[in-house]
Amino acid sequence: MFNIDFSLGICLFLFFAVAVVLAIWLFGMKQKDKDLSLNPKFIWFCSICAYTYINTKEEIISVCPRCGSYNKR
Ligand SMILES: [Zn+2]
Repeated sequence: MFNIDFSLGICLFLFFAVAVVLAIWLFGMKQKDKDLSLNPKFIWFCSICAYTYINTKEEIISVCPRCGSYNKR
């Protein structure tokens, strides 16, 4: 009886430990995403039509979604 309770306790402890680690990891991922979307290096300002847009894929050159011209960092 004790052995079953003991292993059950270890199982529950491991389950909660994994759950806590997962929760912290997911929270950290969400925080990272939030930081990424707010990162000013992804905010582009078009020098041709003065349009401000966000492009998270490119870092050196991006295409303006309004006039299609290339903007260099
Ligand atoms: Zn433009």
